Amino acid sequence: MKKYFCKTTEESLKDFDVTLNGLTSAKATEIITSVGENILNEKKKKSMFSIFIEQFKDLLVIILIVAAIISAMTGNIESTIVIIAVITLNAILGTVQYVKAKQSLASLKALSAPNAKVIRNGVKIEIASKDVVPGDILSLEAGDLVVADGRILENFSLKVNESSLTGESESVDKFPDVIKANEVALGDQINMVFSSSLVTYGRATVLVTNTGMHTELGKIATLMEETEEKTTPLQVSIDDFSKKLAIGILGICVIVFGLSMYRGTPLLDSLMFAVALAVAAIPEALSSIVTIVLAIGTQSMAKEHAIIKKLKAVEGLGCVSIICSDKTGTLTQNKMTVQKIFVDNKLIDSNNIDSKNVDSNFLLNSSVLCNDSTSIDGAEIGDPTEVAFVNLVHKYSINEIECRNTYPRLSELPFDSDRKLMSTLHVIDGNHIIVTKGALDVLMNRVTSIKTSDGVVTFTESDKTNINKTNRDLSSQGLRVLAFAYKELDEAKDLTLEDEDDYTFLGLISMIDPPREESKEAVADCIKASIKPIMITGDHKITASAIAKEIGILREGDLAVEGLELDKMSADELNYKLQHISVYARVSPEHKIRIVKAWQDKGKIVAMTGDGVNDAPALKQADIGIAMGITGTEVSKDAASMILTDDNFATIVKSVTNGRNIYANIKNSIKFLLSGNMSGILAVLYSSLLALPVPFAAVHLLFINLLTDSLPAIAIGMEKSKKDVLRDKPRDASESILTKDFIKDVSIQGLIIGIFTMISYHIGLATGNHGIAMTMAFSTLCLARLFHGFNCRGKRSIFSLGVFSNKFSWMAFIAGVILVNAVLLIPVLQKLFEITPLSTNQLLQIHLFAFIPTLIIQIFKVIRDAIEDKNEKSQEKNDDKEKNKAA
Ligand code: ATP
Repeated sequence: MKKYFCKTTEESLKDFDVTLNGLTSAKATEIITSVGENILNEKKKKSMFSIFIEQFKDLLVIILIVAAIISAMTGNIESTIVIIAVITLNAILGTVQYVKAKQSLASLKALSAPNAKVIRNGVKIEIASKDVVPGDILSLEAGDLVVADGRILENFSLKVNESSLTGESESVDKFPDVIKANEVALGDQINMVFSSSLVTYGRATVLVTNTGMHTELGKIATLMEETEEKTTPLQVSIDDFSKKLAIGILGICVIVFGLSMYRGTPLLDSLMFAVALAVAAIPEALSSIVTIVLAIGTQSMAKEHAIIKKLKAVEGLGCVSIICSDKTGTLTQNKMTVQKIFVDNKLIDSNNIDSKNVDSNFLLNSSVLCNDSTSIDGAEIGDPTEVAFVNLVHKYSINEIECRNTYPRLSELPFDSDRKLMSTLHVIDGNHIIVTKGALDVLMNRVTSIKTSDGVVTFTESDKTNINKTNRDLSSQGLRVLAFAYKELDEAKDLTLEDEDDYTFLGLISMIDPPREESKEAVADCIKASIKPIMITGDHKITASAIAKEIGILREGDLAVEGLELDKMSADELNYKLQHISVYARVSPEHKIRIVKAWQDKGKIVAMTGDGVNDAPALKQADIGIAMGITGTEVSKDAASMILTDDNFATIVKSVTNGRNIYANIKNSIKFLLSGNMSGILAVLYSSLLALPVPFAAVHLLFINLLTDSLPAIAIGMEKSKKDVLRDKPRDASESILTKDFIKDVSIQGLIIGIFTMISYHIGLATGNHGIAMTMAFSTLCLARLFHGFNCRGKRSIFSLGVFSNKFSWMAFIAGVILVNAVLLIPVLQKLFEITPLSTNQLLQIHLFAFIPTLIIQIFKVIRDAIEDKNEKSQEKNDDKEKNKAA
């Protein structure tokens, strides 16, 4: 392999037959066909067959296999065949669902794959990292993930964190100079960058030398383990519950078996009782339903602009009670337009600037020079704050490219949100001038003189007061204010942080960044849902407060604090004030971690947004780290558990709603499965206790389980997201899914269905034909469970939820009813499923008895809804009265 660290940049470029203008698209396509995509090989995925076999390793399925064996021993071969067929069918369904869930997660992963900026055909473009090829010219800047190995061609204070390769946690400085040595350790190859490193500062142009498995990373990880998505807490607790349930069921089976034997029931019949009970009680679909509903949920969230990177975030979202959000771009539109400038002690409207005036002209030019963005023919590239300056100078016929060519940039100190400044060094009329822009409060303390129409004069206290007052006035209108200053150097040099001092004040430029239209409603939704929205911004406190007030985050009695004030607060003081602070202004990324931790110490689940290179630790610390898809750095996306593809605060609130709904859907599906099984268990137990003959054959119960555990359960999991869930408080993260209410519902609903199944059974027994009794019990239970699917769609009645709002539940219901009737009426199926033909009257009876439990449950829900609505209305009235009183 060639060693590019000991080659000059020219030699390296020549090796790849490329210039700084990059490859042509045709050449890039040619290269990618010969060397392949820039990806690491993944370990071979599990085969379909091994996934299928895994379905049989479940304890519940093993019990069913034992049941099949017992059936065979009791001479019931047909039953055995059906049990085996059902288990196999279940395993096939399980395999298909598992593969689908995996595919959907893989597609989410692809959506969040990193991009890279490369120069192709002389133009900077963004492409998927997998399309980067050796010979590409890569453009790196702070926040980027390095996606391939490369030789640095141009370097502007680049610092890179290579800890994933070298273990060194500190960022290292990079230089383009040739290293004159033959063997150099990776960590010392300072003119090279390596795949998986993070750019923490500066920028650079890099020639890609190796991609994919040929990179240093590829060499270490010869085979990347398939990144196995860890099971979520809910999946763990459901698996745990299934195991306990299986053991419990076995215990009950043993007792029922013992009881039958004690009564003198023949051994085989007693065994059949126990088997029937086991089959009735085991909810085979329990763990797979969680995986499926999570997969369906994350897919629909992706369509609504939220890409889930870590599956456990979906559950976490439902528990979120604090949302800490950036201001710029998330709560606001990030469409900046300059409103006013302040120069030579005068405030001037952006439409009335005299661009011939020396001071104004200098300020306008400075705003394009100390600026990395472009706005050509409506195509805006770069930071919206900087784009606003370029658009401003266009109004006065200043050409950004000409200006930058006339006053070339010699050196720079890039913007970073900790320093809140950016500086560039230029040759202006033969002089070496540093132009700096940034936060006024940071710059103000470094100013010693001021440029006025009378020339440069000493900066006085009255200048300071005047500028501060102007800044306050502008900020209180919600405007973002940036200050400009400059300084002359004796000679050209590489800028260092020490140079950012002893300035001449030039002026202020203020711009408007209106709140997003949907922010206000989203904030109101948060408050309704007992979630506290908090604004955390690098911007000025007054600007932030004005916007926060407008959208409802900063309310009567709330506090806005600055990073500096936060620094002075003790842990106790912060803990005391925390509840009341709604705006944190002028914060640096370290403050974000402190805020998250303080809330977590209070036991709250915190969602936090971040976009910058330094936001990664806070995003990791938060329970739900949220990165910005459009403006966010690759580093922040890497650290986040969720990415917003539209950078919008309203999407976070929508995701919380979705998170709550997905959890509710899972819970409802489980409720459906358990209450249905409960009715089966109660029916069998009842018959056993009353020494009645077995009410169901094992095949009956298997048929019921197969029919109801699949489609109807999934249909419940697909219930559409409802804003209704915002009326509830966030879920307690430590709360088990099996709450008292949940167990109560499962038991009562199971009991009602069980009772009507047994009424049907008794009517059948009264005919003196056990076959008819069994058929009636089976069909009533099966149909009742299909009806019951509608009860489990949500907490409220079907009329509140919308009778036809979930078309899947209707499809599952209709398919189910057709299948049950097919088994009841078609002779071949009758034989296979041990069905005795029923009279028309009996057929009507079973449909009626199956419907009554749902009727009862719905009547109860309608009454409960009415009471809840009434209480809510009177609560609202009381709140209004309180408000009026307070007013
Ligand atoms: P948020 O944190 O809500 O996204 P923000 O964009 O104001 O808001 P930062 O990007 O951290 O946060 O900016 C902090 C401050 O730094 C700004 O208020 C501004 O004064 C200054 N600033 C922002 N962008 C630039 C820039 N490109 N050059 C120089 N200074 C900047």
